[in-house]
Amino acid sequence: MGERVGLYPGTFDPITNGHLDIVERAAAHLVDRLIIAVAINASKSPVFTFNERIAMVQEQTAPLAEKYGIKIEARGVQGLLVETAVECGASMLIRGLRAVSDFDYEFQMASMNRKLEDQVETVFLMASENYLFVASSLVKEICQLGGDIEQFVPAEVASAMRGKFSQK
Ligand code: ADP
Repeated sequence: MGERVGLYPGTFDPITNGHLDIVERAAAHLVDRLIIAVAINASKSPVFTFNERIAMVQEQTAPLAEKYGIKIEARGVQGLLVETAVECGASMLIRGLRAVSDFDYEFQMASMNRKLEDQVETVFLMASENYLFVASSLVKEICQLGGDIEQFVPAEVASAMRGKFSQK
């Protein structure tokens, strides 16, 4: 079997400990190379710019690449995800599943992506119980309200977030 390449797509606005847990588990058990695909034109009107999101992803995943001896690279993605996957030689799309509420959307996307490109398989990792409730959107809300976010995101990300919200 050749090199197993996974593509982990998302908005990463910003990267959280929940995302990093998925990256770590994929690196430990599933792939030889992981490409983290950061949405360029995210429909979610991100708080962080594309360049900020990609820089944080790169910085925070570098230690995991080292730890597991695999390549982890971040790149921008726009357009059809499966096309990017094929271009990168990725055979799997990696997604995290938190609650049942994630399921409908993820099931539809995975089914559609398989119709579009049957050489790319979507692989779901269940969120670890410690991160089940961690979502970028919720962490941003907590930060904006002055709450403690250190346990949900890496320290550098927490301080970048506080910077964003104190500018406003
Ligand atoms: P998107 O806009 O594509 O949902 P996100 O950045 O919100 O992008 O999430 C990217 C992926 O990471 C999704 O598959 C999401 O379910 C997963 N994810 C986000 N937070 C967690 C978490 N706490 N635990 C496990 N998976 C997560």
